[in-house]
Amino acid sequence: MREGTILKEINQTFDALKRPLRDLRISVIDRCNLRCQYCMPAEIFGDSYEFLPMEELLTFDEIERAATFFANLGVEKIRLTGGEPLLRKNLPQLIEKLSAIKGIKDIALTSNGVYLKKHASALKAAGLKRVNISLDSIEDELFKKITGRKIGIKPVLEGIEAAEKAGLEVKINMVVKKGMNESQILPMAEFCKDKNVTLRFIEFMDVGNTNGWKLDHVMTKQDILELLSSKYALEAVDPDYYGEVAKRYRYSNSSAQIGFITSVSESFCSTCTRARLSANGQIYTCLFSSEGFDLRKSLRSGLTDEEIQGQIESVWNLRRDRYSDERVEGIAERKTKIEMSYIGG
Ligand code: SAM
Ligand code: SF4
Ligand code: SF4
Repeated sequence: MREGTILKEINQTFDALKRPLRDLRISVIDRCNLRCQYCMPAEIFGDSYEFLPMEELLTFDEIERAATFFANLGVEKIRLTGGEPLLRKNLPQLIEKLSAIKGIKDIALTSNGVYLKKHASALKAAGLKRVNISLDSIEDELFKKITGRKIGIKPVLEGIEAAEKAGLEVKINMVVKKGMNESQILPMAEFCKDKNVTLRFIEFMDVGNTNGWKLDHVMTKQDILELLSSKYALEAVDPDYYGEVAKRYRYSNSSAQIGFITSVSESFCSTCTRARLSANGQIYTCLFSSEGFDLRKSLRSGLTDEEIQGQIESVWNLRRDRYSDERVEGIAERKTKIEMSYIGG
């Protein structure tokens, strides 16, 4: 535990719409080894794209200090993301620090899996419990086309194996976009069912400003369920906890499950308990925010622990974000939004 960081009793804080602060997603780097067309299109994130300089990233000590304040305000779960989080050197050291924070019960990682084989056991030993691995196609050529680099699925499949072997709970995330990979819904379902791994279908979202999102490109939960039901008998599973994002189903003849992240067709803002911390220390209270709160400035300014924790609390108390609900209601404002690769999903 970092010396000098306050450790007071956990004081659950709520936003202006009475939603508790429970989860913190920390982006540890804005760079990525892939160029998924719906997230970091290669035409935009090319050689001349200016990523954050390393000195602008929060250090592990700064992330630990910030996470302690968040834990004091009610955060129990932390998810590390990116960019590609495994590009950040010595990530297990950060996980060790975060695991030691009072109140943190669960640490998870979202990764494209390419470097997971190398790191899985060290991540597990450091305290990581779960990993969500993104895989949008089980067909090699299509995978390469989607992810924009010449890397095929082999390292990802090896990453999945390694994570399971290390004792990490594995889920697979598949963004489904019409015209891109709907052909992969059934093959991916088959693959994950055989492996007894949960597959979560993510509706293509209008995050950022560069992915050319159109409603016509969205395969909704309903579209996907109809397709799956032509082959499998599925039954709905009740949510496990308040604010569970995925709507889950189980195959009737197997313990394998699938889930849907329905931010477009069935928004879930009313139970959204997630705060996001970007790699350079900005707090965002919504995936679709335009602006964040500059926590790095506070962390580097000599403010006391109480003062910084108070700032985070005020940011959360003022939160009124409900972008996806507003999109469904047809009243979402058109605005410049942060990029997904910067905030990490
Ligand atoms: N690089 C890591 C990975 O791909 O898992 C972590 C960061 S990535 C931004 C986190 C998640 O966001 C991935 O599962 C990715 O598929 C998803 N994602 C990115 N852009 C998206 C979009 N426009 N709509 C829906 N999901 C998206
Ligand atoms: Fe990289 Fe993940 Fe975005 Fe793909 S989805 S470009 S792997 S950050
Ligand atoms: Fe949460 Fe914003 Fe997504 Fe709504 S749109 S669920 S408030 S991140």
